[in-house]
Amino acid sequence: MSANTHSRTADFVILGAGVMGASIAFHLARRKAGSVAVLDKDHVGSGGSSRSSALVRMHYSFAPEVQLALVSLKMFQHWREIVGEAGEFRKTGFVRIVHPDETERLKQNVAMQRGLGANVELIDRRQLQTIGGVPTHYTDAYASRRTGRRTHIYLQGSSGLLTPDHFDFTATAQRILHLGLPGVHRLMDAPWGGEANGWVATLKKARAAGLETNLELCSIPAERQATLVRPCLPYLDYLVVNDGEIGAIAGRPTIVEGRTELPACIAAARAVLAAGAMRIVVVHFPGGGVAVERDGPVTVKPSVAVPQDAIAGANGAGDAFAAGFLYGTHEGWSVERSLALAHAAAAASLRGMTTTGTVERWADCLALADRWGWRPLPLPRPRLLCFASPSDPRSAPKPPRRCSWRSGEAFRISRFISMMRTGRAAFLLIIRLSICPAVGKTRAVCSFGIVNFMVGRTACAGIRR
Ligand SMILES: Cc1cc2nc3c(=O)[nH]c(=O)nc-3n(C[C@H](O)[C@H](O)[C@H](O)COP(=O)(O)OP(=O)(O)OC[C@H]3O[C@@H](n4cnc5c(N)ncnc54)[C@H](O)[C@@H]3O)c2cc1C
Repeated sequence: MSANTHSRTADFVILGAGVMGASIAFHLARRKAGSVAVLDKDHVGSGGSSRSSALVRMHYSFAPEVQLALVSLKMFQHWREIVGEAGEFRKTGFVRIVHPDETERLKQNVAMQRGLGANVELIDRRQLQTIGGVPTHYTDAYASRRTGRRTHIYLQGSSGLLTPDHFDFTATAQRILHLGLPGVHRLMDAPWGGEANGWVATLKKARAAGLETNLELCSIPAERQATLVRPCLPYLDYLVVNDGEIGAIAGRPTIVEGRTELPACIAAARAVLAAGAMRIVVVHFPGGGVAVERDGPVTVKPSVAVPQDAIAGANGAGDAFAAGFLYGTHEGWSVERSLALAHAAAAASLRGMTTTGTVERWADCLALADRWGWRPLPLPRPRLLCFASPSDPRSAPKPPRRCSWRSGEAFRISRFISMMRTGRAAFLLIIRLSICPAVGKTRAVCSFGIVNFMVGRTACAGIRR
């Protein structure tokens, strides 16, 4: 490997074409430091580099080594940007088990690593169990390059034997339990200790220990989804789901002719809120996301305008969205900012086929989203501009139907909104608010329109009923 293979001289001569020699050559070339020659007595990678297990771990007892590992982790996470070629970095996790006699040393080590910024956590044997006689569960995820559609092949294995008894929250220092997935865990899905299912029992236990709770869902038949999830609702603080899932739980359509109906999602979220204890329900769909708070504002945030050629696969995008939202919430961010991070994390994850390979630090996700830009705010179609009353979910119009009660209202509002899109109707709408005969139900529609008009495509809409 040489900048000039024919030359007998070079500004820099590196002995050894292992990872060290190659890395030094790369950085010299990047700095345009001069001509570089890498010589090896054998061949490239003939030493330890080709025998390495390729673990990028942070668990070292020598502080400078931890610092070095943190710097290299960042490089692996940004491989394509730094090197210009796709890398093969997979974020998997690492568990180190020590003899009880070494616990004190381990604690000191972990404190040092955390102090340097490594993502390390101490767990004990209650949080790591071995169940004999069954394989570890796994999921094979496939994505179509052409359509982006996914197929998952799942082996339940040890997950089928998971029960509420495996969860012990007494010693945890964490604040939020992110629990999943109903429908693919045989014992958790069955009645447990007098509860409708093991999920309910686990959520109750978590809340009793002072944790906030969120439930992650997966694609299972709608009726089964509703049967399993509805009993969990009174024990949840958050629910972050997609458009199809909220429709399944609420028992109402939210996707019509393959298209997400935003008002129907909001109505479904309200109905689900009314049946549970959540502070907030978040619904995501390809064009954006909406957060509906209990008796509070509705925040709509469009998704990131990810360039088509940057999309490698959608595996894990929903999980990344939930992670972004929960991270923001955990850090006390506003709902709007948490939604922005949720979209940004999902957008970042779309760049890879794997579920975790392209997820990065939150600030980098947001920076990437800002670079790519945000989609226009998803305006509801005029015929659907009616919102369910939170007190009576049955009063919500069926999404495909035109709003018949006050059809004149809906028509005028839809005209205002189409004018508003051309930038002419703000004044009219504001007047309209004050003379609106049915303020209770139409205010949300009018405010939505006004906010859309005023904030344009970048900010979110806050609708207070
Ligand atoms: C089994 C195994 C598993 C490992 N797992 C991990 C892991 O999971 N994570 C991790 O971070 N690290 C791991 N390591 C350590 C890691 O592989 C090494 O630290 C790293 O590869 C060292 O790179 P290097 O370039 O210094 O040496 P090498 O890769 O050994 O390269 C040295 C090169 O120099 C050449 N050379 C030697 N003498 C001369 C000479 N006189 N003239 C010209 N050329 C010469 C050799 O032919 C060789 O190609 C592992 C190592 C092994 C053996």
